[in-house]
Amino acid sequence: MECVFGIDIGGTNIKIGKFHGDEMAESRQVKTDKGAAGANIIADVARAVREMQGDDVIAGIGVGVPGPVMDGVVLGAQNLGWKELNVIKEFEKYFPGVVIRVLNDANAAAVGEWAYGGGAGFSSFIFMTLGTGIGGGLIINNELVEGASGSTGEIGHIRVGYHNDRLCTCGLYDCIEQYASATGIVITANRLRVGRETILNEVEVTSKNVFDYAQLGDEVCLEVVNNMVEKLASALAAITNTVNPEAIVLGGGVSKAGQFLLDRVEKRFRELAFFSVRDTKFALAKMGNAAGMYGCAYEVRKKICRLRSTADR
Ligand SMILES: [Zn+2]
Repeated sequence: MECVFGIDIGGTNIKIGKFHGDEMAESRQVKTDKGAAGANIIADVARAVREMQGDDVIAGIGVGVPGPVMDGVVLGAQNLGWKELNVIKEFEKYFPGVVIRVLNDANAAAVGEWAYGGGAGFSSFIFMTLGTGIGGGLIINNELVEGASGSTGEIGHIRVGYHNDRLCTCGLYDCIEQYASATGIVITANRLRVGRETILNEVEVTSKNVFDYAQLGDEVCLEVVNNMVEKLASALAAITNTVNPEAIVLGGGVSKAGQFLLDRVEKRFRELAFFSVRDTKFALAKMGNAAGMYGCAYEVRKKICRLRSTADR
């Protein structure tokens, strides 16, 4: 039977899914070996894929990587130790003749959500994943937009402060990632709890605890949430004013705060966005951390279809 693989290469784990058509037949997780500047990663993936292949014929492999991607070349993925790398060429060494599609991991998750999850039914939406960092993706007219230098999803690096207060991993200051990601929420919480009466001085300061105790009425936790919501709603209003999509879909670990977060972001967004985009819909992602695998598999199937239809002509 013909299969494709959808592979999500992250800084901690690599998720590998084998697909028959739309259906995931099997999945596996491999630890990311960041030693030797990530030189072993692709060999590790190739070994796992061969083990999972069984009697199937591999028609394509879709790969999501944490960095900007142009024509199969990742321009740099600090989380993996990779500098510029032609990922298509690297995979072709192990899988000659197999169609390879490489895309940014958050872009892949956007496709997964569009095809099967929280973005289903929208022909255009902005996807934003709020995890340790912030990533994103943009679907317009049912197509992923990747940008002139493969950077359409880099919405985590929108500047939302003006005092060079928080240095970002990208080298710039005050990117929204430093305020609205799980990491950013912890920074804010650690600042605001000093000298105050709050549960945050008794429990571990995590994004989850901040949201849990905010819902129970802890005032400092609520302040942290409001602070995060302000930055997030401002950035979303700016993006929406530019792109004017049907919807905004929020995913990632922080979005597990669910409706409590969504209601607040939505309310503040409607106050900050231009009048004609105020009705933009909001939704939560549904695919969890499988979105990337599904999106990679979807995109490589699309590439295979295009190549085959060109060959038929
Ligand atoms: Zn940044």
